[in-house]
Amino acid sequence: MMARDNADPLESYNRKRDFAKTAEPRGTFDKLAWGNGDGFMIQKHDATRLHYDLRLELDGTLKSWAVPNGPSLDPADKRLAVQTEDHPLSYATFEGTIPLGEYGGGTVMLWDRGTWWPAPGKDPRKSLAQGHLHFFVDGERMKGEWILIRLKPRRGEKAENWILRKIEDEYAGNPTGLTDRNLTSIKTGRTMLEIAAGKKAKELPGWKKGPIPPRHGEG
Ligand code: MN
Repeated sequence: MMARDNADPLESYNRKRDFAKTAEPRGTFDKLAWGNGDGFMIQKHDATRLHYDLRLELDGTLKSWAVPNGPSLDPADKRLAVQTEDHPLSYATFEGTIPLGEYGGGTVMLWDRGTWWPAPGKDPRKSLAQGHLHFFVDGERMKGEWILIRLKPRRGEKAENWILRKIEDEYAGNPTGLTDRNLTSIKTGRTMLEIAAGKKAKELPGWKKGPIPPRHGEG
């Protein structure tokens, strides 16, 4: 649902988590606190089921979808993307473990990050409400033109199911080109096993803390 002006868009995020137990950040809504408004990131999350959490910054929160099979570079592939609760901007750099038994218990790797922007002439707030988002990403791994489309709800479904699909461009290619070739964190270089084992995190030389530097000229 789109957040109303007087509602806390992170209420659902905070309600699901016990911050005495998880190392995840508590969600505070402050749209001016961080970022250029166009942050993009993906967290690889080995929980009940392995998935990739796609997050797009919009109006002070991270719109989020869990993609079980991750992004495919093949435009013929429609990847299920289940919309999840808006996440706080402070989640953008989270990597680590969530205790088993807690919400999302398992291992989280920061798998990609960069910037995103909507297709020219499209207002993402309007189009998301209508069930589609045509967008571009410039991540370290995921690039180019993509589309998210909401599926018609079926009876008994608890979450909104969307489809994530690559649009044909110079970055299109092999279905597993992204997920099979990129097995380490872009923040610490660790594998999922190393994160799970609590191997000491050492930030990669190219890693920059805080806001993602703008890398494109569009609004
Ligand atoms: Mn997740």
